[in-house]
Amino acid sequence: MRLLKFDPMAKIAINLTTASIQQEEVIVGIDLGTTNSLVAYMHPEDRAAIAINDQGLGTIVPSVVHFGENGEAVVGNAAKDYLITDPANTIYSVKRLLGKSYQDLGAHKDFFGYKIIDDNSEGLVKIRVQDRFYSPIELSAEILKELRARAEHALKTPVNRAVITVPAYFNDSQRQATRDAGKLAGLEVLRIVNEPTAASLAYGIGLEPTEEKTIAVYDLGGGTFDISILKIHQGIFEVLSTNGDTYLGGDDMDRAIIEHWILGNRLVADLAAQDANTAQALRLKAEEAKKALSSQETFTAELNGVTLELDKHTFETLITPIVDRTMTSCRMALQDAGLAPEQIDTVIMVGGSTRVPLVYQTVSDFFGKPANNSLNPDEVVALGAAIQADVLAGNRKDILLLDVTPLTLGIETMGGLMDSIIPRNSKIPTKAGRQYTTSVDGQVNMKISVYQGERDLVKENRKLAEFDLKGIPAMPAGFPKVDVNFILNADGILKVEAIELRSGVRQEVEVKPQYGLTDEQVEQMLMDSITHAREDVSTRMVIEARTTAEQMIYQVERFLEKNGEHLTSEEINLTRQNVQHLKEVLPTGDKDTILKAVDVLEEQTSPFAERVMQISIKKAMTGKKIE
Ligand code: AMP
Repeated sequence: MRLLKFDPMAKIAINLTTASIQQEEVIVGIDLGTTNSLVAYMHPEDRAAIAINDQGLGTIVPSVVHFGENGEAVVGNAAKDYLITDPANTIYSVKRLLGKSYQDLGAHKDFFGYKIIDDNSEGLVKIRVQDRFYSPIELSAEILKELRARAEHALKTPVNRAVITVPAYFNDSQRQATRDAGKLAGLEVLRIVNEPTAASLAYGIGLEPTEEKTIAVYDLGGGTFDISILKIHQGIFEVLSTNGDTYLGGDDMDRAIIEHWILGNRLVADLAAQDANTAQALRLKAEEAKKALSSQETFTAELNGVTLELDKHTFETLITPIVDRTMTSCRMALQDAGLAPEQIDTVIMVGGSTRVPLVYQTVSDFFGKPANNSLNPDEVVALGAAIQADVLAGNRKDILLLDVTPLTLGIETMGGLMDSIIPRNSKIPTKAGRQYTTSVDGQVNMKISVYQGERDLVKENRKLAEFDLKGIPAMPAGFPKVDVNFILNADGILKVEAIELRSGVRQEVEVKPQYGLTDEQVEQMLMDSITHAREDVSTRMVIEARTTAEQMIYQVERFLEKNGEHLTSEEINLTRQNVQHLKEVLPTGDKDTILKAVDVLEEQTSPFAERVMQISIKKAMTGKKIE
């Protein structure tokens, strides 16, 4: 008899109703990075997150896609070699383009070695490879497909579901783009998780429902730097602030080394200028030196007969300006969070460049405590994503991992006012709604404009979407009941639905804003709401007074048209005078004057409604039909 080897990757579940045995699918965690990506899973027996290692290929997949002559894509190390030999068809750093418009790229347009197209049809960039156009979503999907294939190969089980991480500062558009990339790669994306949240989970922080902690996640990769300050309470990860530089990282250290070598030796300058391959070899030597100096005092190598040397002290002097820039960001992030370094309970190191001892020491000194670096800094985000996947799979029922929304979400109401539906800092996922009605008789369409921001006037906020709820049956103003519901899912993606309850007419949109908000812009929006709070309140009051007045004028004029026969000519004249007066004071914009005129008109006309009602009742009692 042969013993069947237990496959530790797949969990076995027994369906009690059919008594059949089912293999439960594994849900993977994916770190889709700017330079490198990787996938991890939760070992069902050891209950430990493990980065998937494809024998021979390793764990890390460089986020590089190369397209061959027939448009066939290769991803990872195999594609990386083409960065030198075939740069126009080799796409790197595609994460920087996700959910971005051409304008968003600003001064960084020249950073890329391939062709970025300003495609105005959607406002989002496209990448031209040979005669085909690719969206950053399609390119990211290629990377995800490779990760998925590796996971399936290593785990010997289908992989259809995943949790994918994104930087904390990613906006809705970038998150949605990441989710779409997952879908294109054939993955059901169960959740988009913030990278610093995943890193804390990997260190087991935030897994206790009663735990309260403030943490700093310092993430220095190859080309990007992020610092995030998170507050964890009751399983909620609240991003207090983020800062960083999307063009700062280990590559800058490599460049600093090359410049140092060039300055010290003319022969190196010749190497650098020789050809693309030699220049690349020199870059790799610089990276090798940097990595070596993380564990030794000196480095010596040779390239084409030229000796390349570097000692640790010189290296540290070279990279001090880079490390200092990251510390400036740390100070700014703390300032934005309103915290002092000693108020940070735990510091977590993420990204390959945190292996540099000077980086580790500077960060630990700044926060006054040793930073956590016991896990592999390249893997920590993917490991955390795998833990989140495990939570979503229902294997850790005691915890609920939540994020909060950074800005208020609401809709435009009369007079251009912002009516907030989901306030900022609400825990997500969340759902909230409010009922609205029409302002004009027979109104059959209602425009729903969705905004994000803290200001009272929508024009000061950011428009996310707009749609018309069409086909409302014609009814008098105020009769239709329109429920507007905001459903904010766990990824921070918003679905807005509007339903007219009497007729059941329904319309919904999923918000995919075209232009992204940077974290600085979010900060600015919050700051503006504080600076302009007083003026916003008074503007809101004027607009509300005006709206009331306009409604009143509309109602009274309609009343006169319909029921004028029941009023005396003096009453009609006085009403017309009061309406006229209200119309005249409206443009003054003085809230008190407007409201006073509204009161006068209201007081004068309020007995009319009663009188008309009495007449109607009398008519009804005598069997006559009312019009
Ligand atoms: P990541 O983007 O997080 O994958 O980080 C990659 C960066 O980490 C690259 O710039 C690498 O050169 C750098 N890196 C990897 N290992 C080390 C090391 N031992 N010492 C210094 N830098 C390293």
